[in-house]
Amino acid sequence: MVSTPFHATSQSDPQEVLRHVFGYESFRGQQDAIIRHVLRGGDALVLMPTGGGKSLCYQIPAMMRPGVGVVISPLIALMQDQVTGLLQLDVRAAFLNSTQSWQEARSIEQQMVKGELDLVYVAPERLLNDRFLDLLERVPLALFAIDEAHCVSQWGHDFRPEYIQLSILHERFPQIPRIALTATADDPTRREVLDKLGLLQAQTFITGFDRPNITYRIGLKQNPKSQLLDFLEREHPDDAGIVYCLTRNNVEKTAAWLVEKGWNALPYHAGLPNEMRQQHQELFLKEEGVIIVATIAFGMGIDKPNVRFVAHLGIPKSVEAYYQETGRAGRDGLPADAWMIYGLQDLITLRQIISGSEADEHFKAIGQRKLNAMLGLCETTTCRRQVLLSYFGETLEQPCGNCDTCLYPVKTWDGSIAAQKALSCVYRTGQQFGAGYLTDVLLGNATDRVMKFRHDQVSTFGIGTELKKDQWLSVFRQLVAMGVLEVDVDGYGGLLLNSESRPVLQGAQKIEFRHDAILTKKKTKREKLVQKFRWKDASDQALWDELRSCRLELAREQGVPPYVIFQDTTLEALVLNKPSTLQAMLQLPGIGDVKLERYGQAFLEVLEEHIGRQWE
Ligand code: ADP
Ligand code: ZN
Repeated sequence: MVSTPFHATSQSDPQEVLRHVFGYESFRGQQDAIIRHVLRGGDALVLMPTGGGKSLCYQIPAMMRPGVGVVISPLIALMQDQVTGLLQLDVRAAFLNSTQSWQEARSIEQQMVKGELDLVYVAPERLLNDRFLDLLERVPLALFAIDEAHCVSQWGHDFRPEYIQLSILHERFPQIPRIALTATADDPTRREVLDKLGLLQAQTFITGFDRPNITYRIGLKQNPKSQLLDFLEREHPDDAGIVYCLTRNNVEKTAAWLVEKGWNALPYHAGLPNEMRQQHQELFLKEEGVIIVATIAFGMGIDKPNVRFVAHLGIPKSVEAYYQETGRAGRDGLPADAWMIYGLQDLITLRQIISGSEADEHFKAIGQRKLNAMLGLCETTTCRRQVLLSYFGETLEQPCGNCDTCLYPVKTWDGSIAAQKALSCVYRTGQQFGAGYLTDVLLGNATDRVMKFRHDQVSTFGIGTELKKDQWLSVFRQLVAMGVLEVDVDGYGGLLLNSESRPVLQGAQKIEFRHDAILTKKKTKREKLVQKFRWKDASDQALWDELRSCRLELAREQGVPPYVIFQDTTLEALVLNKPSTLQAMLQLPGIGDVKLERYGQAFLEVLEEHIGRQWE
């Protein structure tokens, strides 16, 4: 149908490239400005949240400028995914990494020298190799893109020593524009990137870090398995997602248990054999609706756009980690869930891990502070998104309306007396017991253990019968989270008083507790508020399923992930618009010239069949 294939050149309009190649109508946020800046030969630092659309910022200039765009990417999985996606668009792209044979690599290098490629993705260690740098002298170069640029930061969790040496690009190729990109927000990292990469003249483009399509919910952990199951059944019956656990052991148990319950769940952690990890990651990317149960070892380099939920069965160790992990949900911009449950035990475990680590005292203190900020987010009674963004120095003027504290405002209660009783009980029993034991004493339960220590004799025995067991546990957790009680990290995790305890104990300081939200079984308001997709009737749901299986079939034939055929946003648009011609399809997001030619007909047939059936 398309007579002459579109080809991007320096004469093209970036907007035209966006439409013809990528199938999108308009640029998002600062994409347009960034692209024009790089096209003019300028250096840039791009800070944009996950899903913000960073890739286009270097892909379009690389296609338009004469020569090859060299993209430095820290992870093999990432570059392969990107290249697979570009090849689907007939963009001349390739990668160079250790998975290739010597001959394959050679042939790509030849193509580079001849200028036959628009984009080449390389690992930093390959790029820094002398032979490769020499080769680059003979390659017509369009630009250098340094992806995941925060890897230069020694303080971050993704530190890659080779990244520091990338300043050599500027020294050897001063004329070639460089664009560094990252989703890491904070100011010190930003300055480090500019400094270490020698991006002295670079213009910085910062986009806000909000991820409006993610619904944040944090609740109390009671029975994690059934809470998780309930969440999955109710909200994500056939979606892909990630379940994070704190330990390897929990990962395996949870995955096995989900499988037993009929879910397609796979474990992933650093202790599993390499092949198995690879295989599980591959299945997650290439099949629909796979759940990965993982430690934080899983995630970096996962570009899958339709991860519909990230569930945490424990508390991440910092707000940065929480933001990054939850950020893997909803990259495609469609509604997604960040769902977390946690309890006092997680907190105690984390405190002990930090304190027991090899790091020096200063580092440990930073670790505890970061955890405190995370606890603040968990225990807040105000909008979670406001708290989250303010941590990154951003202000959200209004409560978001898309987090649990906005959807179900938290009720608080005056806990000054309860706090006094709890602290006093800690004191009377000698500051060596955990919340469960202290609760027994407060409730006057003469358990064997209580009797053994003769704590039926202390003045706080039985003085707390006005609250139930769960409520006392909640009081202790909140006191720890507030820093009014401390965890004895060197001993057995008992609770200790500290300098903050005194004013509370003496009644000089008021304490407000939140009523714990239990992410409950009752039909949630969110289900009524935010539909996952914008259709309501069963026929559209059926059409969605039909389109999805057509996509999976096409993907399997080629051995590629389904989302490189069409993303969920495109399938959604097909359901909502039900185009009856190829021309009409071209108007939909994610359908450019090449995709239309390759897949238009197949999906049109699915649509026709579906509509035909409606009339039968
Ligand atoms: P990032 O690398 O910043 O996480 P990506 O480059 O992967 O983000 O883009 C995220 C998603 O947004 C992708 O699905 C991409 O196709 C889509 N996207 C990017 N730019 C646009 C645009 N201008 N219009 C519509 N969709 C876009
Ligand atoms: Zn909110």
